[in-house]
Amino acid sequence: MEKCKITNKCGSCQYQGIDYQEQLDLKYEICQKLLGDHGRVQPVHGMKDPLHYRNKVHHAFATDRKGRVISGCYEANSHRVVMVDECMLEDLKAQEIIRTIRKLLPSFKIRIYNEDTGYGLLRHVLIRRGFATGEIMVVLVCASPVFPSKNNFVKALRKEHPEINTIVLNVNDKRTSMVLGTRNITLYGRGFITDLLCGCRFRISPDSFYQVNPVQTEYLYNTAISFANLKPEDVVIDAYCGIGTIGLVAAKKSGKVTGIELNPEAVKDARLNAKANSLKARFYQGDATEFMVKMAEDGQKADVIFMDPPRAGSTKHFVDAATKLQPKRIVYVSCNPETLARDLGWFNKMGYEAKKIQPVDMFPFTGHVETVVLMSKAK
Ligand code: SAH
Repeated sequence: MEKCKITNKCGSCQYQGIDYQEQLDLKYEICQKLLGDHGRVQPVHGMKDPLHYRNKVHHAFATDRKGRVISGCYEANSHRVVMVDECMLEDLKAQEIIRTIRKLLPSFKIRIYNEDTGYGLLRHVLIRRGFATGEIMVVLVCASPVFPSKNNFVKALRKEHPEINTIVLNVNDKRTSMVLGTRNITLYGRGFITDLLCGCRFRISPDSFYQVNPVQTEYLYNTAISFANLKPEDVVIDAYCGIGTIGLVAAKKSGKVTGIELNPEAVKDARLNAKANSLKARFYQGDATEFMVKMAEDGQKADVIFMDPPRAGSTKHFVDAATKLQPKRIVYVSCNPETLARDLGWFNKMGYEAKKIQPVDMFPFTGHVETVVLMSKAK
């Protein structure tokens, strides 16, 4: 496979130029080294076609030395934008739409935001595409809510891409490295898209977390659900639940699911997702550790705990509290084997051990590995 031309500047693909099977072998070695002491590591579940899997595409805008609009990623450890025109990972339709946006900008005299001076309007574009539904959301991140001739811009963009379902203006007027600001103004459509995963329909807002590789996500969730071996009467917790994906797929088998999530927008989506799928599940907004500690203090019990924390992993307090609920099974979905190994160590101290370890390649060509671990009480 030909190597991507901008790989050195972009820095996203640590495994560029490496044969796909070899990438999977390297990831297996990483898991084996970090997790091997906890149990037998299954071979990494790879993709049949590992290209253009990213259904969420983000580009930052800038102008080059000749004043032309460019868009792409930041050069490693800098805020210089590297022009990305053809990426092996990004969804092809999203790339097409971004090309159109770049082409339209000059004729609408939309100024690109300058990070040094703070002047200008357009900062980023974020495109999300529902894999099963094909629904497309375009989020234009701007430094101000005032977007000159926005109706005409929306019209021109939709004329070239009638397949776009919704266009949102996100206002980010802060001088920060966060991509999205807190205010969303819907310019066209419903302001969110939906997608189907494991037989449930999910609503995805501009800032909610949603896995970027839908093909692998379906495998990941199905593995997590099968590890959990759910019974109808099981009391289930979905910690770090995002828009409720794992918990709602679980709610098809068990009537007592509770989700906990920090991001209020995601919690809103999770509640609407429960309703839209006619599933019974309760979702709370808050810190997962505080929630578990409170449950443990109240003397509550759980049969199954799913947990899917961000890269930083969970906390010692979470682990202590979670094990006090005496779950029969804990299913840990992790995007970082280093913090996973640390957390498994804490679980061991509390009497739980890994029974199954299944790595999944959610991010081909990058060095990231996702892993699902089933734990239960040590005999
Ligand atoms: N299980 C979901 C989301 C996983 S991503 C899915 O598969 O789509 C991790 C989630 O943890 C994010 O939604 C993030 O907002 C949330 N999160 C981060 N820190 C948290 C905390 N301290 N307490 C609860 N949720 C947290």
